[in-house]
Amino acid sequence: MKALLLTEVKKLQVVELPDPTCGPGDLLVRVKACGICGSDIHGFDGSSGRRIPPLVMGHEAAGIVQAVGQDVRGFRVGDRVTFDSTVSCGSCHYCRKGSINLCENRQVLGVSCNEFRRQGA
Ligand SMILES: [Zn+2]
Ligand SMILES: [Zn+2]
Repeated sequence: MKALLLTEVKKLQVVELPDPTCGPGDLLVRVKACGICGSDIHGFDGSSGRRIPPLVMGHEAAGIVQAVGQDVRGFRVGDRVTFDSTVSCGSCHYCRKGSINLCENRQVLGVSCNEFRRQGA
């Protein structure tokens, strides 16, 4: 697939990357539109430290479901979707009580920092 890769601070390059795979609990989304957030700008210029290259940025996107993981219910191929870019663990104290936005192991798509790296949209 074609992707816009942050190869180094303040340098973006259009590259070809392997197609992502769809795990059992995942939806694979063909991105049709992706926003550029203010936090991407501060990552692009290196000031925030939350877009350590190499990284595909972008955490505000919309697209079409291309594949549905075997454990996923409620979605079908062809559905038009957007998503919350935060990834919660499902097992910490906050996740267990339903406050997934406070997850102790929270990650964000399109962000790379010292703790994690998640490719974006
Ligand atoms: Zn944002
Ligand atoms: Zn959690």
